[in-house]
Amino acid sequence: MRHPSGGGGGPPHPRPPASASHRVWRASARRVGACRDLSHPGGPPVSDTPRFRSDMTVELVKHSASDSDVLWAARVSTAGEQSLEEVSKDPERSKGLINYLMRDRHGSPFEHNSMTFFISAPLFVFREFHRHRVGWSYNEESGRYRRLDPVFYVPAEERKLVQQGRPGKYEFVAGTPEQYKLVSEAMADSYRQSYAAYQEMLEAGVAREVARATLPVGLYSSMYATCNARSLMHFLGLRTQHEQAKVPSFPQREIEMVGELMEQRWASLMPLTHAAFNANGRIAP
Ligand SMILES: Cc1cc2nc3c(=O)[nH]c(=O)nc-3n(C[C@H](O)[C@H](O)[C@H](O)COP(=O)(O)OP(=O)(O)OC[C@H]3O[C@@H](n4cnc5c(N)ncnc54)[C@H](O)[C@@H]3O)c2cc1C
Repeated sequence: MRHPSGGGGGPPHPRPPASASHRVWRASARRVGACRDLSHPGGPPVSDTPRFRSDMTVELVKHSASDSDVLWAARVSTAGEQSLEEVSKDPERSKGLINYLMRDRHGSPFEHNSMTFFISAPLFVFREFHRHRVGWSYNEESGRYRRLDPVFYVPAEERKLVQQGRPGKYEFVAGTPEQYKLVSEAMADSYRQSYAAYQEMLEAGVAREVARATLPVGLYSSMYATCNARSLMHFLGLRTQHEQAKVPSFPQREIEMVGELMEQRWASLMPLTHAAFNANGRIAP
């Protein structure tokens, strides 16, 4: 089954100074929306025609994060100023130290690093995301200072639609073709209607901050989110499912898609820390 609209891309957002490894990671091959420019609120919308997406995008825009940051912070307690030299001396010992810190939950050495992500996802994902308060900084595009673009979430075919079981033990199974058709058509109709009401109010001179009340939580937004490895691990422990997790969590699939993309990027920056996180049951130290 096809999406209610083929959609179309838009101009890329101007980026902050990026590192050499600046890359966009997507949860789905299909991308029909556009990123937004947080630095130019009030700019013109990309288009007034509603567009539909099923994917999440995560771009690592800036980072200062490596396994050696963990080792450096941990070894300062015993080696003082010489700890920087210690980092590459003995790789096996370094791996062992990171594993020990993770296992015994000595968490603070995992805080001396920073990753800034640009994330594009529906509002309902951000609502869950912003519950993570500790070790996170956020800036999101404004619905008061700019006209919001009509980009909306419609689940992809691989998104399981039917929930079975009891709270805390839910299982999700694939929907029937009829259910997928219903979901995508009902959502698209509702999105078009609410965006038409939004536009009508703006054209009548109503303030953006008032008119936006008609827009649904399936609307895409974008934000910068900055965290460190410790706060990211806490997020991943709650917002992803993984066979190595000692304490299973049951996150909503869409925030999990964002988490998976962030995790891929983080794992490539801090492979020893990532491996120790998995080996110790994905519990943040
Ligand atoms: C599967 C799932 C379902 C959820 N369902 C719901 C729901 O139905 N309703 C709902 O409201 N929320 C729900 N949540 C959100 C959840 O309750 C948390 O708000 C969210 O996961 C953030 O976790 P956190 O507070 O540990 O993270 P952070 O805010 O990042 O805090 C990190 C850690 O710091 C410490 N900490 C932070 N603030 C305090 C404080 N004030 N006092 C003491 N210690 C603190 C705690 O140790 C905490 O674990 C759900 C989360 C998940 C993963």
